[in-house]
Amino acid sequence: MPKAQETVLEIDLGALAHNYRTIRSNVPQDVKFMAVIKAYAYGSDSVSVAQKLEEIGADYFAVAYIQEGVRLRKAGISTPVMIFHPQKENFEQLLEHCLEPSLYSEKLLKEFIAFAEEKQQKDYPVHIKFNTGMNRLGFAEKETGKIFEILRNTSAVKVQSAFSHLAASEDWKEREFTLGQINTFRRIATKFIEEFSYEPLLHICNTSGIFNYPEAALSMVRSGIGLYGFGNDKNIDTDLKPVGTLKTLISQIQHLETGETVGYNRTYKVDRPSKIATLPLGYADGIHRKYGNEKIGVFVKEQYAPIVGNICMDIIMIDVTDIDCEEGDEVIIFGGPQHATKFAKAGDTISYELITGISQRVTRVIIPE
Ligand SMILES: *Cc1c(COP(=O)(O)O)cnc(C)c1O
Repeated sequence: MPKAQETVLEIDLGALAHNYRTIRSNVPQDVKFMAVIKAYAYGSDSVSVAQKLEEIGADYFAVAYIQEGVRLRKAGISTPVMIFHPQKENFEQLLEHCLEPSLYSEKLLKEFIAFAEEKQQKDYPVHIKFNTGMNRLGFAEKETGKIFEILRNTSAVKVQSAFSHLAASEDWKEREFTLGQINTFRRIATKFIEEFSYEPLLHICNTSGIFNYPEAALSMVRSGIGLYGFGNDKNIDTDLKPVGTLKTLISQIQHLETGETVGYNRTYKVDRPSKIATLPLGYADGIHRKYGNEKIGVFVKEQYAPIVGNICMDIIMIDVTDIDCEEGDEVIIFGGPQHATKFAKAGDTISYELITGISQRVTRVIIPE
């Protein structure tokens, strides 16, 4: 690996392919795989991630917003793309780029059908989302009669899939609740099939659902975080490889006398002659102030160096007193010796938030398989 010349997020497409194959091997062969690549593919790089996953056989992509789908199409991605959270404002672009909306409310369903009819569409693929306990987006089970009636009265759209989302698939204490969600969804699916005499794709499992409820894989699974190397569980993590490594380098080393302090508001006071290294990244790059003041450290020459003082907008200081290092040496924030889940925990958050929060200011470096 070349030495970092600036702060970079390395994206390891070999690790991505490994994770894809590992997750896929946990579901029956005929189950389709929807790769969730919203939010720049969880903060990595949506186009190169989509290209790789398309090459190795992902059946479907999902993003949150229409603009994210447009970006994929403009980059030449031809795999079907589902939009989790479309807004009416962008329906024209959705149609123009053959993106498939998730319809989750009566208002949105009617708006989209009216739009599709006006555009003289026939069987435009749509996805119907059911709320089985997450209470975020989706139709309630008791609304099925009304929804099915609306769908029966149009030929402009066709239900490509019906789906729901698990609220706590990673949490064993919520097993009963999750099984209840799965049962509710099965009942809804059965009703749909009775009404329409065909079976749309059915899906409810996210990454943790795939591993913890393999009996609920149905005809498609949706995986996001697992593709990027995190399984919300130590045992699953061991089979996955983190895709992103956030690296930087030492800009400067300061030599402090006992009693001197570091950074804004002088929160770190050294109690021995110390070496403080300065790194070119900060909270504007997604490493929030919460990680400062020794909550966590980084790795320099495979040795742990605590983050000291307050994290600045564009700068982080670390204590390297016990490490034989110099200006220009590489520093790993997360990835390699430092698992992002552990780093995230130190900031009271989860891998999802840490990795999607690395700002677009950080250069992405794609490492091919
Ligand atoms: C983000 C998202 C997923 C992916 O979940 P992971 O836990 O990252 O696998 C799946 N389904 C929906 C509806 C989502 O919003």
